[in-house]
Amino acid sequence: MSAVPSDTLFPRPPVLFCDFDGTITLSDNIVAIMQRYKPAGVEEIIDEIVKETKSIRQGVGAMFALLPTSLKEEIRSFVIETAGIRPGFPELLAWCKQHNVPFYVTSGGIDFFVYPLLEPFGIPSDHIYCNGSDFEGQQIRITWPHVCDEECDNDCGMCKTTVIRRFPHDDYYRILIGDSITDFAGAKLADLVFSRSHLTDKCRELGLPHIPFETFHDIVRHLDQGGLSS
Ligand code: MG
Ligand code: ZN
Repeated sequence: MSAVPSDTLFPRPPVLFCDFDGTITLSDNIVAIMQRYKPAGVEEIIDEIVKETKSIRQGVGAMFALLPTSLKEEIRSFVIETAGIRPGFPELLAWCKQHNVPFYVTSGGIDFFVYPLLEPFGIPSDHIYCNGSDFEGQQIRITWPHVCDEECDNDCGMCKTTVIRRFPHDDYYRILIGDSITDFAGAKLADLVFSRSHLTDKCRELGLPHIPFETFHDIVRHLDQGGLSS
């Protein structure tokens, strides 16, 4: 790995915002949970999210409310056993450390599976943004500690653009890594996007600067060369 200081590679100091489901993990864990337990009524909610008659926050909250809190440990174990971490993730974290580049997880996932899955990687907990959960009642209740600021009206739940806006464009080279619908709004704010899947299609459609990737090794290689400039 080269030891070129990052400030010579990018026009401004870079900061990375990385999606969790389907990006750090190989597949989307909320989708996997709902496919595994198939609670009655979940299909209708998914349809409403896709048709955008329910926001992401409303839809995710409604889906988890279909599941009893007694399943907590079972669901957590299911996700930990099945999720799978995308290759190269430790190497990307090492690159960030070596180059003093802040790395944030910006996840629409839920704390009770996001934190355990990230536990082996030593990411400071204040660099992990995700939704919360409450298992006190009969049904799972999702809590929303990072809702949209006044500049976002998507009702995201965990609002990625709100987090990104705390790092002003003039001071930071904002890099987003993601794969899907919850990354679309953030991608529009980013200086550079590393994209997979639906996010690649969206970036193409909107003409946003993006580099498709498959593993985090691909991303490290591009970061070592200054992103798009190679
Ligand atoms: Mg995702
Ligand atoms: Zn938002």
